[in-house]
Amino acid sequence: MKIAILALQGAFAEHEQMLHLLGVETILVRNLDDWQSFLSSNGVGLVIPGGESTSMMRIMRDEGLFEPIREAILGGLPVLGTCAGLIMLDRIHLDVMDILAKRNAYGRQLGSFNYEGEFKGLGKVPMTFIRAPYIEEAGHDVEILATVEGKIIAARQKNMLVTAFHPELTDDTRIHKLFLKIVEEGHPSSL
Ligand code: GLN
Repeated sequence: MKIAILALQGAFAEHEQMLHLLGVETILVRNLDDWQSFLSSNGVGLVIPGGESTSMMRIMRDEGLFEPIREAILGGLPVLGTCAGLIMLDRIHLDVMDILAKRNAYGRQLGSFNYEGEFKGLGKVPMTFIRAPYIEEAGHDVEILATVEGKIIAARQKNMLVTAFHPELTDDTRIHKLFLKIVEEGHPSSL
């Protein structure tokens, strides 16, 4: 049972390390062959990391990964999207989650910063923001999990969990554990 990490560019290695720390097997997905071997090895979840959403989008299309990944998520594959990964899931990118992301939303001065914020069900969580987005619109089915100064920075809709910050860049494993819980809900006793 494996979790795929989209490894087209960006901070995928840190997600890999964190999932290994939690005893989870991973497969880095760079092309359609990787995606197919993920599916045929009983893949149970997908991580879309931070990076540059514009480049990630282009490479995803070039590699023919856009439609298969979109269909898998719509079919219920649990997915964790962090930072650019959040943007990728919104209405104008993969269009699987009922959110609209505002990119590079904190201006030049606050482009990158650390924060400790309340996360629903988890308490205070360290949050690293790097030219991060926030969610400017969220549909009724979207559960808001964290906000900073009134802006939504973490949310869940069914099988999709997103954070505007980078949980993989801290040593706090709770966001990844929450994602693994969502994976288990979808595939009981899979991990
Ligand atoms: N600014 C990036 C974008 O718009 C996201 C930054 C990140 O993932 N750290 O795609």
